[in-house]
Amino acid sequence: MDAQLKKFMDYVVAKNPSERAFHQAVQEVAETIIPFLEENPKYKAAKVFERMIEPERVIMFRIPWIDDKGEVQINRGFRIEMNSAIGPYKGGMRFHPTVDLGVLKFLAFEQVFKNSLTTLPLGGGKGGSDFDPKGKSDNEVMRFCQSLMTELFRHIGPDTDVPAGDIGVGGREIGFMYGQYKRIRNEFTGVFTGKGLEYGGSVIRPEATGYGTVYFAQEMLATINEGIKGKTVAISGSGNVAQFATQKVIELGGKVVTLSDSNGYIYDKDGIDTEKLHYVMNLKNVKRGRIREYADQYGCKYVEGVSRPWMEKCDIALPCATENELNEEEAKALVANGCICVSEGANMPSTPEAVEVFLNNKILYGPGKAANAGGVATSGLEMSQNSLRLSWTREEVDQRLHNIMINIHKTCVTFGQEGDFINYVKGANIGGFVKVADAMIAQGYV
Ligand code: NAP
Repeated sequence: MDAQLKKFMDYVVAKNPSERAFHQAVQEVAETIIPFLEENPKYKAAKVFERMIEPERVIMFRIPWIDDKGEVQINRGFRIEMNSAIGPYKGGMRFHPTVDLGVLKFLAFEQVFKNSLTTLPLGGGKGGSDFDPKGKSDNEVMRFCQSLMTELFRHIGPDTDVPAGDIGVGGREIGFMYGQYKRIRNEFTGVFTGKGLEYGGSVIRPEATGYGTVYFAQEMLATINEGIKGKTVAISGSGNVAQFATQKVIELGGKVVTLSDSNGYIYDKDGIDTEKLHYVMNLKNVKRGRIREYADQYGCKYVEGVSRPWMEKCDIALPCATENELNEEEAKALVANGCICVSEGANMPSTPEAVEVFLNNKILYGPGKAANAGGVATSGLEMSQNSLRLSWTREEVDQRLHNIMINIHKTCVTFGQEGDFINYVKGANIGGFVKVADAMIAQGYV
């Protein structure tokens, strides 16, 4: 590691001990930003990057709730308000047993760059809890969400901090949290995005992250005169992002052959068509079942205990489950099997070693902060509609989402072109950094 980068990372690790996911996210950005700072001393002198790795505010709180047996349960809640230089804090809430301060700081840090890339006035934040909604009744989830919001309500607001969904937080959880916020505040405002259509949500918001990831892949493929049509696509996960990425790939004439969950993955050599996707949506969103049941239903291959499908042959890979779900060995297998494009629906799904394999082999690699920014961009569109008290049509929102993804791609090309290769990691990091950094300098040391 270069001496300057090492010194910087030693400082980050010493200041944030045991937050490994946060160290990883910062290092990935520092590798491209530190050389950029050398060429642009105004950012260095103002210590903009050092300020960007320090959250503006961290809120951590107790969430007591009563389960269906009448027993008291205690979870921990968090909200990381990372950076508000260009807009109110914005980022999802994650409910998963692995949630801790380090995971949420990594996600909030990534969110700052991602939100800047969307071109919308959105700062960066993230929150959540170590609560696991899996196996809980609707009433338990409601009691938990209400208890969480009984503390969180005082820290958020439509011009302050606007949460949304993430892993474990879908329409049901957002509805319960929003309801409690409205009750306590006695205000009907756009304080959450990802809301139901009946109470201020936007069409295309549920679809946006998955669709955007595929639009970004389309843009990358277009640079080598390729497209989605006729390509074999491997997707991991089977939640919100994976489902709508699958839908868009089918629509564009590609063949999705894999999906997964934390227990295993399915490989359907005939491809997942619209009818099979409806089965998955019902299985995951209504029945809350396991992906293994797809293999029972359609008689395809199921691999138990391997939660990602990267050893299978594909032309395009869309990691849409979680962080660090694609390692060096799997990256090498993807490249060896002829994969030409990786577009990340999830946040930081590829390990640093895997990213190195993609960059060394010069395949099209779109990092999450660019490729999955369609979700938060459409959240920004939901906020605009709430402020205007208007609802746009599906076509209008989809068109705006598509244009935003095209523009994010252009920004990555502007800052990431290296000869005839586009380094999307560099492009996304520098492209996201500049706007936030300029705003921070303009606003003084706050
Ligand atoms: P989701 O609906 O909860 O689905 C998550 C999927 O990933 C599920 O299939 C889940 O399987 C699997 N998964 C989660 N943790 C896992 C683990 N540790 N190992 C293996 N599989 C795991 O969540 P989502 O909204 O689709 O989010 C997926 C990814 O996209 C996350 O990285 C998230 O941060 C990112 N993202 C989401 C949005 C958005 O708008 N929702 C926007 C930008 C980025 P199980 O059901 O077995 O847990």
